[in-house]
Amino acid sequence: MELRNDMSAFESVMWFFGRAAKHLNIPKEIQELLSHSWRELTVEVPMRMDNGDVKIFTGYRVQHSGARGPYKGGVRYHPNANLDEIRALASLMTWKTAVVDIPFGGAKGGVQCNPSELSQDELNRLTRRYTDLISHLIGPTRDIVAPDMGTNARTMAWIMDEYGQRFGYNPAIVTGKPIELGGSYGRDAATGRGAVFSLGEWARLAQRSLQGNTVAIQGMGNVGSWIAKLVGSLGCKIIAVSDSKGGVLLRGGLDGEALANHKRTNGSIADFPESENISNEQLLELDCDILIPASIDSVIHHENADRIKAGIIVEGANHPITPVADDVLQKKDVIILPDILVNAGGVVVSYFEWAQNIQQFRWEEDRVNAELSKAMIKATRSVYERAQKENISMRESAYILGVSRVVKTIELRGFI
Ligand code: GLU
Repeated sequence: MELRNDMSAFESVMWFFGRAAKHLNIPKEIQELLSHSWRELTVEVPMRMDNGDVKIFTGYRVQHSGARGPYKGGVRYHPNANLDEIRALASLMTWKTAVVDIPFGGAKGGVQCNPSELSQDELNRLTRRYTDLISHLIGPTRDIVAPDMGTNARTMAWIMDEYGQRFGYNPAIVTGKPIELGGSYGRDAATGRGAVFSLGEWARLAQRSLQGNTVAIQGMGNVGSWIAKLVGSLGCKIIAVSDSKGGVLLRGGLDGEALANHKRTNGSIADFPESENISNEQLLELDCDILIPASIDSVIHHENADRIKAGIIVEGANHPITPVADDVLQKKDVIILPDILVNAGGVVVSYFEWAQNIQQFRWEEDRVNAELSKAMIKATRSVYERAQKENISMRESAYILGVSRVVKTIELRGFI
């Protein structure tokens, strides 16, 4: 496949996959198998709005590979959710679960809607309808759902309840659910916490001090806000953050905890005291040491890649850098901690939650965080060491690790 500026999300992930497949020289038929989803379902979801009208929403569940275990992945509620994007995100889950070596495959779901325009009652009805329509594909040992953009613990509670009404009580059908319903301590913070563990371990291995390093974070959703709260533990200083409505800059340093509180009470981080308002585009191009895109995909692309000034990029979001931009940044020697490594903490703790549900036993938060730290450190070390040894980027190294593990299970199963 040729590198192009206008590659779709799935083409982009496949480009990274293809490069690793070539490096590993994997058999043609396995390459062919992994270049497509195993199964894709598109559903029309009719929903009665609060005003009595009926609206039809389009939903998806894509299962990319189940070679390493049950399919696993979140459900996204977003106006731009479409089949290509969900397919890309499902395949990223396959590589991500393999990189951190948890026994799951990769899947993703989504509903094309704007959750901020729907009431809680409407979201509840939409979620139940969507769950019914995909219920024949999911299951605690088949395909386990989790939150993603636009969904949260409450959405998972509705999915669990609806699924339970059909098939009986089974909390292991979803992860990222409320603690009261069998959720895991530490799951909410896990993606952000895992990213901070991974960045800390990379710095230790690369013998780089992060003390006083300036950080800009794009996105103050679940991932960005937890990174903002925790990244100070590495000695870094947050100078800018943004959400979908815009960003704020304060060279003297922003307090992550105060930012998260401001966002909670005001619905946005705009007008945070003493700071200067900036746009999302300006945030990406700021003069800073560490840039953390933690919102939507493809925000760093062929038009802005050469204007990025950060020396380190931590991919809190899934697929925030297009392949062409990745190439530009690589040539500028920018260090990129790739999504399939650095944002895997969420699914790692999803695995712990699922295991706790199956054992009907709850772990203390300290244990969850200690096991998460172990998993992130181990994966970061493997990715870093190969990258050093073979003089390749950490993205290439992570894909090689993930793809080789998936291929190994396909061969062991002997199903082709
Ligand atoms: N949506 C998260 C991700 O993209 C978590 C998925 C999960 O826990 O299954 O990694």
